[in-house]
Order: sequence, then C-alpha cells, then structure tokens
Amino acid sequence: AVVTRFAPSPTGYLHIGGARTALFNWLYARHFDGRMLLRIEDTDRERSTQGAIDAILDGMRWLGLDWDGDVVYQFARAERHREVAENLLVAGHAYHCYATPEELAAMRETARAEGRPIRYDGRWRDRDSSDAPAGVKPVIRLRAPIDGETVVEDGVQGRVTWQNRDLDDLVLLRSDGNPTYMLAVVVDDHDMGVTQVIRGDDHLTNAARQGQIYQALGWDVPAMAHIPLIHGSDGAKLSKRHGALGVDAYRDLGYLPAALRNYLVRLGWSHGDQEVFSTAEMVGAFDLKSIGRSPARFDFAKLENLNGLYIRTSEDAALVDAIETIVPALGPEHALTAPIGPDLRAKLIAAMPGLKERAKTLVELIDSAYYLYAPRPLALDEKAKGLLGNDARARLAAVLPTLEILSDWSATTTEAAVRHFAEGAGLKLGQIAQPLRAALTGRTTSPPLFDVMAVLGREESLARLRDQAQ
Ligand code: GLU
Repeated sequence: AVVTRFAPSPTGYLHIGGARTALFNWLYARHFDGRMLLRIEDTDRERSTQGAIDAILDGMRWLGLDWDGDVVYQFARAERHREVAENLLVAGHAYHCYATPEELAAMRETARAEGRPIRYDGRWRDRDSSDAPAGVKPVIRLRAPIDGETVVEDGVQGRVTWQNRDLDDLVLLRSDGNPTYMLAVVVDDHDMGVTQVIRGDDHLTNAARQGQIYQALGWDVPAMAHIPLIHGSDGAKLSKRHGALGVDAYRDLGYLPAALRNYLVRLGWSHGDQEVFSTAEMVGAFDLKSIGRSPARFDFAKLENLNGLYIRTSEDAALVDAIETIVPALGPEHALTAPIGPDLRAKLIAAMPGLKERAKTLVELIDSAYYLYAPRPLALDEKAKGLLGNDARARLAAVLPTLEILSDWSATTTEAAVRHFAEGAGLKLGQIAQPLRAALTGRTTSPPLFDVMAVLGREESLARLRDQAQ
C-alpha cells in the first residue's frame, strides 16, 4: 500500500510551499487509497517551537489535509536514531571521527582557497580510535563509497547521478549524541513504512546522501519525487513580497480552503488545461508524471480569481459561516463581531446572492456587507460623502414621504415608488438612486439598490434616509 508523509520542520508557520508539498502528498495517498503520515521534524531544539507546531497542524486542518495515525515527533525517536548509528558502526559502515573544529575549519579554508567544494577529507576513515586525541568527543560518520556513483531515480526529475567522489562521509551522529537530519529522515521514513517521498527539489542532493545511508543499512529506498520550488511572478525565488505567507495569513485575508487547494494543485501539476478541480477530481486525476520540471510561478491575481469563483459558487449560509470564522482576525474598522446573531445572519443570507457576485475574498465580502451591520448613523466613505451634497440631501428629503407611505415593503414596491417619484419630479432615476444608495450603504457601489432596501427592511431603511436627508 502507498504511504506518503509530510515532514515539516517546525521553525515557522506552514508557508505556501510547505502547504503545496503537504497537498501533493495527501493527493497521492488518497489517489491510491493509501496513507499520508505527518512527521514533525523537531530535532533542531533551538529553532523548533510549539507555536510553529500548532500553526502547522492548524494550517493543515484548515486546508482540509487530514493525516493518518498519530503525529510522529522526530525528536522523540532520537534513541532509535542513535541505535541505528551504533549498528552501522558495529557493521563497519560508519566510523568515529575525532577531527577538531580547527581541523574542519582548516579543511574548509583550503577548499575555498583552491576553489573546490568543501568536503571532509576522510582523515579518520581508516584510523584507529586508539589514536583519538584526549578530550575530543567524536562524531559518527558514514563510510560512504569512494568510487562509483549514486543514482536517484526520481519520479519528477528523472534519473539523477552523483559521482561518489563528490559526496563526502557525512555525519550521522553529532558529538553530543544527537542524530543529524540526514540519519533521522532515513530511519523515520523506513520505520514509518514510507513508500513514496514527495518534497521540494531543494532536497535532491540530500536524496543522494540518504540513498547512501539506505544502502549501508541494506534497506529499500522509497520512491522519490522532488518537486520544483515555487517562484514569484517575476521568476525570482519566492519571498514574502510574492505571497510566501503562512497559510493562516491566507485564511485571514479571506481565502477559502477549497480555493487555495485548487490554486496550489495547479502550482506545478497540470491535467490538460483544466484549471478548476473539485477535491474529488483532484484526487482522481493526481499523478507524479504531470508535475513539471520547471518552477511554478505564484500568481496572486489567479488565486484571487479562483477564490472569487469559489465564493460565487458557495452556498450562502456556508459563506456566512466562513465569514464568522475570520471575524476575529479583522481590524476594528469592520464593526463586525462574532458570533453573528440570528437577525444579521438572516440579512447576510438574504443579501448574499448579490454580494457574492463581486467579492474576490471573504474580506471584500464582509466589506461589501458593511451596510448590513453598520451602526447608525452610517459612516460614509469619501465618495459617498462627496455624492451627498446639499442637492442630493434635499432629494432624499423629497423622496421620503413616497416611501414612508408604503406599507408593503419589498424590492418591487420600493422600486415602483422611487421610479414614480423620479418621473413626477423630472429626475433621472440615477439622480435619486445614487443618493439613496449612499445614504443606505455609506458607499457608492452596492448590490442592486432595491434589494438593499428589501434586506434592510422598512424601519432601518427609513431611519438611514432620515439620518442623511435635509
Ligand atoms: N523537514 C524538512 C523540511 O522542512 C523536510 C524533510 C523531508 O521532506 O525529507 O524541509
């Protein structure tokens, strides 16, 4: 059975590249009815934090990427990693190295001066531990092959070959007894029964080194797939400026998890020219051979458009629920608090068909629904303020009686009344509709005016008009 894993280091939030790696592992596992495991690589004690672990788990849950079994914490397995290093030592596949920090620094200096890549020169490879200098705690290094080559058959990159002479004897266990990342990954992937590794191509050289450890251990190497990293829209490596934010930031900006999943799956993977995928479609179509070899470019506009599409096609009540979840992340200028009470909920649902046509994010949606939850008197935006000059306010005063006498208040009746008034007063509809819109919503754009009136209801609409009329 297929077993994949997502193995983030908890040194920061779940960033967009990590989220894509998680998604690909999840899709691959689900496609084959296999399992996706989650391993937190927390061996770097200085840089790993509980906050980062929480952010990763939250991010995965929010994105809908569930994992199988318990979370594996790498640091908790250090004893097992040490045991494997000792076994390699006993079997002669590893050795103690007593090179001092000064010696290693000198090796780096020489390599630099001669313009060679930095590599350990193997000085303890064949030297007896009885030569060990007093007081130096050894590291354990892999006795890597000197001749020949190491090959990675990669599901995305194809066959990649390294000359063994270019790969030095890597450290497996540090002098303080802590395993290195290289050893821990191999032992964990093996013990967890991982059959397919999918990760960023910044790990490609590690795959060769890990391959040597597998070989020394006599273990099967899992299938490998190294996916090109995500670049910014200008082709440069992805940075904050390009959208390299945490998944939590996308949530707070008002992106829907389904839209982000859809966007991420297309970053590097394609299925003909299909752009929009339900989750079931993604799971059904996902494969490694359709992952491109060149870096995908992050395109904010495309993400926004996709998000807009998901908003337009979401259920109205589901959108209100989604809005509610991001309310705590909004600034105070939004005047909206959670939980959303039943009255406002009903208004939001009633207005949603009009609102969702325009919004690209939930934040825009919330913003455009301002008129539904704004306290009176309404704060007018600059354009609305500009529009409500003396003339416009006088027109509001003039139209008020026509509306006040309506007992049946709906989009149809209010529209008929306003049209009738405009004709009688010799005004174009816009000359009265624009001030009405500004007074009722505080903005100059909104869903259709008479729908706004219907959703607000008679009393609230009339009160807002009286607030601005003169
Ligand atoms: N912990 C590594 C990282 O966050 C990933 C290791 C792996 O996937 O093998 O980059």
